[in-house]
Amino acid sequence: MAASSTAVVELGFAEPPESPLIAENFPSKIGGRPAWLNPEHILLADQVRCEVCCKPMILLVQLYTPEDYPPEAFHRTIYVFCCKNGSCHKIAWQKSFKVFRSQLPKDNIYWAENESSLDNTTKKKPFAKQCIVCGLLGSKMCGKCNQVNYCSKEHQIEHWTSGQHKIHCNTISTTSIIEEHNNQCRKLVLFPEFEIVTEQEGRDQEEENEDGERDGDNNSSNSKALVPVGDEIYENTSVDVDKAFLKFQKRIEPHPEQILRYNRLEYESEKNPGPLWVSDIDKPTVQDINPCPHCGQERTMEFQILSTLLNYLEINHLQQSSLDWGTLLIYSCKNNCHIENMYYINEILWRQNFSDDGLKWKRDPK
Ligand SMILES: [Zn+2]
Ligand SMILES: [Zn+2]
Ligand SMILES: [Zn+2]
Ligand SMILES: [Zn+2]
Repeated sequence: MAASSTAVVELGFAEPPESPLIAENFPSKIGGRPAWLNPEHILLADQVRCEVCCKPMILLVQLYTPEDYPPEAFHRTIYVFCCKNGSCHKIAWQKSFKVFRSQLPKDNIYWAENESSLDNTTKKKPFAKQCIVCGLLGSKMCGKCNQVNYCSKEHQIEHWTSGQHKIHCNTISTTSIIEEHNNQCRKLVLFPEFEIVTEQEGRDQEEENEDGERDGDNNSSNSKALVPVGDEIYENTSVDVDKAFLKFQKRIEPHPEQILRYNRLEYESEKNPGPLWVSDIDKPTVQDINPCPHCGQERTMEFQILSTLLNYLEINHLQQSSLDWGTLLIYSCKNNCHIENMYYINEILWRQNFSDDGLKWKRDPK
């Protein structure tokens, strides 16, 4: 995925991975452990703790989004972390998400382009030790065997019990059994892993949207009511209908299984198309989207995650406190600024919820 100079939106879809979603393949993905663009400098649990429950958050999405400018952004990945506990989001969603931008120049010591596989095995690269459970920096170690690394006490305990390390610690077990238990443990902690594949949104649809708010059209071919209310009520109370939601619904209808929309414009472009709002409420104010604290440049909408992603996360939607959103908007520094010795730059996430119209649709989209 890369910025374009036109307003074409790249749609993201979730698919089972065809090849391993490992760092050297620069993946865009949902869930699993992060594939670190910079494998030497990786995030610590303390940088990724939920500010409500204080547990380490887990990877929701990572997107590989290389840019032409500056050269330090030749490789570029955006990481979105979130707390798995829906109650935290209900209390303070701003404290239950974190977004990081990581970049690398074309010439770097980790992913050299013309490196032969022989070099790969002989050269020891300075890769950081990762938590066996979640992939964050493994700054702690099992004190009994000194063999396994953890990001936090929480994951050490989890691995001891559900990862069966209490059986494997200091004993000689078959690697495949250990790996099976590790995966069981990860399954409990992390979101399931899917590859994000992209496709351009149809241009015809783009134009239709550009034509503007044709909400009053006599669209006789469209027999489906856009909002589940009687025709009469709909005609007479158009003021009460969430216009943004109608527009949203119409726009995603041709590809209802899309989970993400990427529509960043090239950095020099004046006009950013902005998000596809899911509602007229809950829009961020100018103060909510601070300029980049490192270079002073504005942050613009880069991509948005849709509520359809929730279907892939294996969470119990019937639970009152389950994870939920209408859309998640990711705003990032327009400059892709590079700061020496800063490997992760915080960017901004804004959550917009559905209004009542949207909620009805979400429960019964047909
Ligand atoms: Zn939390
Ligand atoms: Zn961990
Ligand atoms: Zn041990
Ligand atoms: Zn910046």
